[in-house]
Amino acid sequence: MSSVHLVWGRPTLCSTVRGCHSNTCDVEGQQTKRQLPTIMDIRELFYLTDISFTLTQALTGHAYNKHYLHRFHITTDDKCPCDNSTSQTLDHLFRECPRFGRLRLDHEFLCGPLGVSPYELRSQMRKRNTLQSYTDMINSILSDLKRFNNT
Ligand SMILES: [Zn+2]
Repeated sequence: MSSVHLVWGRPTLCSTVRGCHSNTCDVEGQQTKRQLPTIMDIRELFYLTDISFTLTQALTGHAYNKHYLHRFHITTDDKCPCDNSTSQTLDHLFRECPRFGRLRLDHEFLCGPLGVSPYELRSQMRKRNTLQSYTDMINSILSDLKRFNNT
């Protein structure tokens, strides 16, 4: 099974990514496949926004979150410091983690009246300001992650 990856600013397939671990791609890359199932979806995203380092991390699942780091034995556990029991997946960080509740609330308040689903990229892509809010939110979360995790 191949997953869509974003490499060098262009969409490509997992099997073409040097050093890509297929198990990781199958698990972590599901985020991208679920959010942007076709190459056309990815091309549209590229058209609508600048693809930042943190957005690439979010889409590929290759970020500094503890769930990912623990898979490679870089951290001793995968638990989020917010409660020391929840696995720190990207979904947890973006949708649940109380540490980032304020950012999430601001984003949801913007999306709600516009009828945009706050965590579905294809929905975000219908309104530039909600897409910008989403990319700003994940940028803030992922940029703060090393400090939050003390890693
Ligand atoms: Zn948390």
